[in-house]
Formats: sequence, C-alpha cells, structure tokens
Amino acid sequence: ALSRPRITLNRVPYFCSGCPHNTSTKVPEGSRATAGIGCHVMAIWMDRSTSTYTHMGAEGVPWIGQAPFTKTKHMFANLGDGTYYHSGILAIRAAVAANVNITYKILYNDAVAMTGGQPVDGPISPALIAQQCAAEGVKKVVVVSDEPSKYPSGYFASGIEIHHRDELDRVQRTLRDTPGCTILLYDQTCAAEKRRRRKRGKYPDPAKRVVINELVCEGCGDCGVKSNCVSVAPVETEFGRKRTIDQSSCNKDYSCVKGFCPSFVTVEGGSLRKPQKADAADFSRLPEPTPAQTTEPYGILVTGIGGTGVVTIGALLGMAAHLEGKGVSVLDMTGLAQKNGSVVSHVRIADRPDQLHATRIAAGEAKLVLACDILTSVGYEAAAKMQRGVTKALVNTALVMPADFTRNADLEFPRGSMEHEIRDAVAPGDAEFLDATTLATGLMGDSIATNLFMVGYAFQRGLIPLSEASILRAVELNGAAVESNKQSFRWGRLAALEPERVLNAAIPQDKPDSQRLSTSLDEVIARRAEFLTGYQDAAYARRYTAFVARVRAAETQKLPGKTALTEAIARYYFKLLAIKDEYEVARLYTDGEFTKRVAAQFEGDYKLKFHLAPPLTNKPDPTTGEPRKSSYGPWMMGAFRVLARMKGLRGTAFDVFGRTAERKLERALIADYESLIDELLPRLGAHNHTLAVELASIPEHIRGYGHVKERHLKAAKAKEAELIAAFRAAKPAPASVERVAA
Ligand code: SF4
Ligand code: SF4
Repeated sequence: ALSRPRITLNRVPYFCSGCPHNTSTKVPEGSRATAGIGCHVMAIWMDRSTSTYTHMGAEGVPWIGQAPFTKTKHMFANLGDGTYYHSGILAIRAAVAANVNITYKILYNDAVAMTGGQPVDGPISPALIAQQCAAEGVKKVVVVSDEPSKYPSGYFASGIEIHHRDELDRVQRTLRDTPGCTILLYDQTCAAEKRRRRKRGKYPDPAKRVVINELVCEGCGDCGVKSNCVSVAPVETEFGRKRTIDQSSCNKDYSCVKGFCPSFVTVEGGSLRKPQKADAADFSRLPEPTPAQTTEPYGILVTGIGGTGVVTIGALLGMAAHLEGKGVSVLDMTGLAQKNGSVVSHVRIADRPDQLHATRIAAGEAKLVLACDILTSVGYEAAAKMQRGVTKALVNTALVMPADFTRNADLEFPRGSMEHEIRDAVAPGDAEFLDATTLATGLMGDSIATNLFMVGYAFQRGLIPLSEASILRAVELNGAAVESNKQSFRWGRLAALEPERVLNAAIPQDKPDSQRLSTSLDEVIARRAEFLTGYQDAAYARRYTAFVARVRAAETQKLPGKTALTEAIARYYFKLLAIKDEYEVARLYTDGEFTKRVAAQFEGDYKLKFHLAPPLTNKPDPTTGEPRKSSYGPWMMGAFRVLARMKGLRGTAFDVFGRTAERKLERALIADYESLIDELLPRLGAHNHTLAVELASIPEHIRGYGHVKERHLKAAKAKEAELIAAFRAAKPAPASVERVAA
C-alpha cells in the first residue's frame, strides 16, 4: 500500500472549536509573533505571522538577543497561563531588564489545556497576573476578554485597561507602539475545558446556538477566516458549497458570527431537538455473530480524528478483552494530534498475555482497520498496517474537512481516491464503506456516537474478537454517556444487518430541496428558472432560460454532444442574476424554508436573532475600515416580510438599495457576462471549448458580500483577463493535423 503516491491532504493538529487561541493568536498586519510549546505552537502552521518556538519558560527570550540586530521594532510572544506561573514570569522579567520592545500575550484559559485540562498549579487569576506583571515593571498591562463585563468593580488594580476581544486588533496596535515590555492578558476559558465542565454542570451553558441560512450563504469562507473554527463545516448544495455549523462539536464561542454576511442567526432559548426514532428500535432480536479468533494475536487499528473518542475506543476494547481474561495491549499515537489531528490506536488481543510480544501492530499485520475517519486511514501509519488477504477495513466515509478548510474555502475532500486506495490495499471485498457520522448523528443527535456505532458494525460483522457483554460492561465501567454509547453500539450492529432500515431512521425524509443535487442539465435549468421566478418574476426567469437556450443551441451546433459550456452558463449566469440584495435576503428568510429548517433542528421556546450590517445605517470599524455587524431581534422577521414584498421595486426609481455601489456593480457584472458570452459563441470550437467553460465559470469565484465580495471579484477579474487573452489567442489546429489526429 505504501508504494503508491500518498494523498497529499493531511489532518494537521489545529485549535479546537471555539478555542480562545483562534482569536488570541491573531496579530495586526505588519507584526510578528513567536510561540512556546503549548497549544499556541499550532499558530505556526496557520496564517498568523507566527514563527519559531522555545521550551516552556523561554517564550520571547530569543527576541532579547535578536532585537538589537534587526530592523523589526517589536515582537509579540505567546505565553500560556500555566507556563507563566511556573517559569514564564522569569522570561518577562528578563525582557523588562533588557528593555526590549515586546508584548507578551498571556492567555488565561484556566486550564493546562494541551494535556487534557489539568488545573494550573498554584494560586493564579487574571487579577494576580496583571498585578504581578505591573510589579515587575512592565510598561503597560491590558486585559482583553470575551466577557469584559464579568469583572466586579475594583477587580483589577488601577491603571489596567479592560477591553472586549472585538477590540483586539486595535489594542495590539497600541501595544506594539508602546516602547518596552507590555502585557496583553487575554482572558477566555479553554473551549475543551468549557465543554467538560458543561457536561458536569459546572460551567454556564448558554441556550444560544448559531445556525446559518444556507440559501443566503455565498460560500465565501469569511466565517472560517474570522473564527478559525473547525465546526464551521461545508455543505454541498444544488447552488454550490455553503456552510453549516456542526452542532455536535460547536463550543459556542460565536466568533463565526463575525463572518461578513447576513446568513448568521442565533437561536436563543430552546434546545437541539432530540432524535425521535433512536429510542424506538427493537434490538432484542439481533443475531449473535461468530467473533474473530484470538488463538493468534489479533490486531485492530483504530483510526480517527483527535478529540472524537478514538483513544476511548482503544480503551474500551482493551478493557473488554481484559474482562474476558485475554491478553491485550493498547498503544495510542496521539500527542498534539488529539487536537483535530490524525489519531491512531493499536489494539492487540490474544488468548494469553504471553502471546503478545509488541504493543504496536507490525506492517501489514492489522486484522481490522476500524477507520473512524477515512482521511486518517489513508495516512502512512494506517496504510502501512494493511495487507491483502490479512486486513479487513471498515471505513467511515463522512466528509469531515481537515482544518485547512478554515482558510481554503475550495479545499477538496478526495473521497473517491481515498476509497480507491483502501480497496486496493486489501483483498477484493474486504473493505466496507459507510457514512457512519451521518447515520450516528441522525440517530443519536451527536456525532460523538460515531465511533461506538462503528464498533457495533464491526462487531456484527464478526470482526471484533470479543463478546457483546464484555464490550457493554467496558462501556459501563468507562462511566461516560453509558446509555447513549450502548445505544450507538446497538445501532451499529443493526446497520450491519439492515442498512436500509437504519438509513431511513437516521436521515430525515424531508431533507431540504437545496441539498438534493440535480441529475440532468434540464433539471439544472428548470430549478434555476423556478428560483428566479420567485426571486423576481416569470419575465426575469425567461431572460435566463432564453440566454441559456441560445448558448445550448450554439454549443450543440458547433460541438455536437458537448454540454459543459451550457452547464457552466446555466449555473453561473443564474448566480449573477440572483443577486442577494436586501429584498432577496429578506425573501430567503421568509419563504418558510428557513424557519422550517430551524424548527426541525430546535425545540422549545426559542427566539431568532439576526446578525446584519445594513448598508444604509452601517458604521465602519475605525481600525479596519470594514463595516460592522449588529444584532437584531425577532422583530427583524417582520421587517424581512415587508422587505420581501417590496421586491417589485427592484431596479425601479424607488429602489433605494439598488443605488449603492455594490448593487450597481452586481448589475454591471450581469451585463459584462452577457457580452463576454456573446463574444465567445461565434468563435467557439474544439480548440477553445475548455477555455470558454472556464471563463463561463468565473462567477463561481465571485462570492460573499460587501468588502469580501470585492476582494473575490478582484481575484476573479484577474483570472478572467488571463483566460480572455488565452481564448483570443487560441487557434484551431491546422486541418491536416486534425485529419492525422482523427
Ligand atoms: S457567506 Fe461566507 S461568511 Fe457567510 S456563512 Fe457563508 S461562507 Fe460564511
Ligand atoms: S459558535 Fe461558531 S466559532 Fe464558536 S465554536 Fe461554534 S462554530 Fe465555532
């Protein structure tokens, strides 16, 4: 398996959803930062102008030696609260003594986060850190928090500024211009720790969740950039890739709401709807499988994403084997990977302990690869353990993007190639694929159920050499979410026997129409014509269909059998026509589809809050110059209804919104596109067909709202200019060559 070229996509460790580092490690444009070996070291492989790291306690110290010999005037240094307490304070003291221009960014996240949320040693609090740093002689201490209002009056010593994290950029600009050593104390609790404490009822759990109106979403990726959050996930729809919030992993940090678009809504009050069908199944008649034998050591390689319970699966299997008196070893390969990286657990089980001479599964020796994440299972560590005739692979094919997706909205998840690699690594018929995450989440209401579901599936296939009783007893001894883990295991068993039944129970029958992809060109056109009728009227839809029909006739005449250009125009001419102006956004909130989706996801007494930046009343951010979003209560739905009814004003003298520069530009884009296609059609031939399709697809890259759209437009126009030049320069092959080629 290793001799083939590897898939280049990697699951690189990354900050957790809602992690304070997602925001705290940002630096203003033109600045640089350094790291230590805490979680913030991961900023090095993000777009955070952060490079180099030191051992704990020396954060920022190399700058003392570098500062006199460089033109760089200032440096930021990240430092964790635990490190601060045991040794980092000495680094700060050294920086004060050397009088270098440095700002220590101390994250007070209230836990030793990287190693699993142990308490920080010693008495420590934001007030004490601020006071101690001031006493060390730093020039300035500024506190930044997600909840600045939480501090009682007089909590901090006088002279210490307190700001909301929304002002981080401005605060950092001030600090970098302050000579000497300064402190930015960023106070926000570790997201993983919050999740743990919330489960135990020891931390407030706000009844507030974020949802995205997928039809309003433009797929621009700005929410990923702003939040750096891996819970902002892709959803593939008829109208392109949009965003959704993975409610299972979301830690309620709300940074994604800053994504510059009107798609974000917070659902306040109520709770996530519990799946109804999960309790209804009867598992009593599941036939007992014949389990695999352990007369020889039996190796199970569990692969998955850090933070989703891969290590727990290894531990459960280990405990179950121990309960049966078998020999067992469990070896986890995790480290930093426990933060969204590729985690692998080697489980080896034998009848007797003395049969096990190594804890690691040797190359080609895995009897079962329990691939809870397909991407991890094509990595080096997992691929090396597969062998034809030896290994059976059970693979979860769920689309769970690696964290690079936060910054690369077009990242591809090559599911087909990955499946092919695994099929090729084992004997024909020995690899089985299923979207376990979608099934388990649909059944249990939380994607954390996935891995136990996979164990149940493998068990029913006879691939786990243990009894159900010992596995379930291990679940009980583990003590966490016992009933739901048992239920997930049983659903997995049932899925192996009756996949259709489980699929029907897991997937809602009334899936949103936009998530059903068209299967023919005619359908692509018809659905968009219908959409445009709702957008404006039948005449507007006819403008669309007539233009597409003209392209189709030309393409058929010049290149019989080809439809790629027509398809591109059917999709992207539509995209340009369906401008998401104020009337349209209002329509997409009030046509019933959005509220239906929210009601399918939430129950109880909830209210909707909208996060918008209305163009006529917006005040730009004084530091960045970008428009700012504000929150609007449920009354906004009424305003949307009025606005949606006013769509007839669109394009008339009474269209106040239509006079903004953004709307004028969007209308100009339609006219430009029509003329561009008019130029392409008469010259269309086999020699320039691909270029024509690429040109017609350019609007795919013009995404987002306001300044985000402007940025994308600039890049798209540069690409378009290149393609136009190439199209104009392309010449048909000489007739004789064409004959030879034919
Ligand atoms: S429009 Fe952009 S910022 Fe808004 S939800 Fe979609 S991808 Fe995120
Ligand atoms: S609210 Fe948004 S930013 Fe916060 S954890 Fe959830 S998805 Fe991530």
